[in-house]
Amino acid sequence: MDLFQYKNGRLFAEGVDVARIAEAVGTPVYIYSKATMLDHLKKNQTAFAALDTVICYSVKACGNIHILRLLAQAGSGFDIVSGGELFRARQAGADMNKIVYAGVGKTDKEIVEALEAGIAYFNIESEAELENLIALAKQTGKKTKAALRVNPDVAYQTHKHITTGVKETKFGVDIERAQRVFAQYGRNGAVDLCAVHVHLGSGGKTIDPYVNGVRKILPLIDSLRDKGHRIEALDLGGGYGADYETDTVPSAADYASGIVPLLKDKWLKLILEPGKSIVANAGIMLTRTLYKKQGGSKTFVIVDAGMNDLIRPCLYEAFHFIWPAAVAEGFIPKKRTQDYPADGLETVDVVGPICEGTDYFAKGRPLPPVERGDLIAIFTAGAYGYTMAGTYNARPLAAEVLVDGDTFSVIRRRQTYDDLVAHEK
Ligand SMILES: *Cc1c(COP(=O)(O)O)cnc(C)c1O
Repeated sequence: MDLFQYKNGRLFAEGVDVARIAEAVGTPVYIYSKATMLDHLKKNQTAFAALDTVICYSVKACGNIHILRLLAQAGSGFDIVSGGELFRARQAGADMNKIVYAGVGKTDKEIVEALEAGIAYFNIESEAELENLIALAKQTGKKTKAALRVNPDVAYQTHKHITTGVKETKFGVDIERAQRVFAQYGRNGAVDLCAVHVHLGSGGKTIDPYVNGVRKILPLIDSLRDKGHRIEALDLGGGYGADYETDTVPSAADYASGIVPLLKDKWLKLILEPGKSIVANAGIMLTRTLYKKQGGSKTFVIVDAGMNDLIRPCLYEAFHFIWPAAVAEGFIPKKRTQDYPADGLETVDVVGPICEGTDYFAKGRPLPPVERGDLIAIFTAGAYGYTMAGTYNARPLAAEVLVDGDTFSVIRRRQTYDDLVAHEK
């Protein structure tokens, strides 16, 4: 479900015509729908309500503090991966008892900040990291809890850059090694190693990797408990599918239908760390057509957003549905899909203004005819859009806008040229 829909041929974010936002704020601009993200959070909370579940939204997907505040107020905790994200979560008034902290390279400074903040769990990726956490917890006199990240080594179909749950990655330890880590560090007096963390990667299209992952992890938990370790929580990570194309991924209820029965009566608190399944299609990036250009047999639509604003197509060969914000009645898209039927459409490459061959949003894509000045929406851009944006080519960061019903507010103003050089003075 998302609330970016066409009314009389014009694209609306909830009750706001997106052209109004472009006029007021300029382009490129990220536009988020409050009701959409809250709906996604609610669906996760409801789907897993039969278990003692905490949803810890993954800050790195979209970390604007206004968005974090909304989610925190709706009961969400947060999955963080840096001291900066901890800071963001605190700015948003997050409950520190619902914060889990992952990442293979936590610095001492970051660890001490999180110890002092009193977060719920450190997700531990290696023996060396755990040793360091124990030492710092003793030094500061702040006890904490930790989850060991374990790779269940389940098959997972996704892009090579975003698979993480297999044996040969830099993340976590395999199941046999997990036994040894608990044996060696399970009783240290400073860090209560009482949970298991699994994160399989991002972009899965079926529930199977999660179901198989839980099936592989439960015997480990049983065995650890037999040896006297108190295991109170299973953190199942994120990576739940988001609808980049209409109806192509499982819903929260689908995931729950596979996972909840396996965890019933196991006396485990369940932690989920969804990122993109909460925010991806709660956001679009709106950009304006600058030029249309013929190159050989190809037509290029050159827009005012670049790979610095949205890097996913260039980085992951990611698909984003792209469509003009105003279209004739016959061109209202019925579905967001890669193989949109091409009747009356023009096949184009949608590219940005940056001098790099990778600066594109779509290649060979059917699009209703557009002209200079037309607004174009890049859909499902809420996750890993703004958070991965940069200022390459000295391009100021875009604005972020949050829509709530019939009103919208700028939740991050567009950078100015002065902002670009402020730290150089
Ligand atoms: C990135 C990440 C997530 C969120 O992934 P999504 O694909 O956005 O759901 C959750 N947990 C960890 C540990 C991560 O690194």
